[in-house]
Amino acid sequence: YYCDRDAKYLPDRYVIGTCPYCGAEDQFSDLCEKCNRVIELGKILNPKCALCGSTPVKRRATHFFFKLSAFAESLAKWLKDAPPRDFPRDVVNYVLSWIRSGLEDWDITREDYWGFKMPFEEAADNQYVYVWWDAPIGYIASTVNYCRRVGKDWRDYWKRADSKVVHFIGKDIVYHHLIFWPAMLMAAGYPLPSKYVVNGYLTLEGRKMSKSKGWLIPLRYLLDRYPADYLRYYACFKASNSTRDSDFSLKEFQQKINSELAGNIGNYAHRVLTLIHRLFNGVVPKPDGFDKEDESFKSFMESIPNELERLYEEADLTKVGSKLLEAFSRSNSYLNLKEPWRKTGERLGEAATTLYLSINFLREAMVAMYPITPEVSMKVLSFIYVDKPIELSWQSLKKLVVEPGWRVAKPFPVVRRISDEEIAEDLERLRGGFV
Ligand SMILES: [Zn+2]
Ligand SMILES: [Zn+2]
Repeated sequence: YYCDRDAKYLPDRYVIGTCPYCGAEDQFSDLCEKCNRVIELGKILNPKCALCGSTPVKRRATHFFFKLSAFAESLAKWLKDAPPRDFPRDVVNYVLSWIRSGLEDWDITREDYWGFKMPFEEAADNQYVYVWWDAPIGYIASTVNYCRRVGKDWRDYWKRADSKVVHFIGKDIVYHHLIFWPAMLMAAGYPLPSKYVVNGYLTLEGRKMSKSKGWLIPLRYLLDRYPADYLRYYACFKASNSTRDSDFSLKEFQQKINSELAGNIGNYAHRVLTLIHRLFNGVVPKPDGFDKEDESFKSFMESIPNELERLYEEADLTKVGSKLLEAFSRSNSYLNLKEPWRKTGERLGEAATTLYLSINFLREAMVAMYPITPEVSMKVLSFIYVDKPIELSWQSLKKLVVEPGWRVAKPFPVVRRISDEEIAEDLERLRGGFV
């Protein structure tokens, strides 16, 4: 596309029009955000120049094409045979429907573009490689870069049949990662990706984020106001390996941090450690027999690692978060049921068992949460591992690691609550526009 008024070739994103596949208006000329289909060059309906609004003209030029049509059958077979736990079914189904409706050869050059020039003699001087051709190759390039720095071989990651490549993507780039990219890998003789994690869009307070409309919150702003762990914790409830869209709401963010991370989780840590100080002078007590409730809590603790492992593998962080919360609720109920603070005198042994199990649960949960909230986890673990190196391995979750006789630190609250004023300020900033 060429805009006569602006006297220049327009990159794909500078041409706006109607999707030829689903009829959605106001779409970029290379991708429909409504049906997530890639739109082939020149196919958008009612094209308009995004700079000046006039109708661009098509200029005749020689382009290079990737013979995508030749891979239709192999792609369809690969996707049909793919294991459902690694290839989300709904995504595979719509990719298969795109393939069935016919793959056209892919135009991979653009005029007056940026990035890499076409390296062939036949190419014109102003001819560049289209961004979606070289972008995924960047995954390999950055592996090469990483391997050079640490003295490894990038081929171990990309060329060995037993290595696993997992793509974490948004649903807007499914076409690029499940059609273009595997076809390129097939053509080049590389192993194909082994797993995809695909998430939907994140809206902000119910509206689509937009730089031009100023409807966004810069990450830097949030990180200056709140610990990264708060955002990580909240974000995990928005990453469920599903193409459903989710919403970032400041009120919900506040509520989840205050009632869950500070209330349910942080408070539990504080209670257990404080009780060990109050009843046992800060030394983990020796358990004194296990009754029915103790046994049932113990087997509950033993069941958590396997369940969490499965959910982490599924990349459903929402379920990981919910499972952890559920575990803390269960542990809080156990503590409330056993009331160790009332077990004085000759019943102190019962309190010892309760707190021995509880401190072990706390350690287990903090290690299991480490991928989501590393700072909170490390703070709490540093109360437990006062004079020992902290053990973070997943393997260690299957044992009761904290032993009687360990000295634990006097805790301080590790999660600060977010005030109503702070959230009101954030909302005001947002409404005023950040740009
Ligand atoms: Zn569409
Ligand atoms: Zn124009």
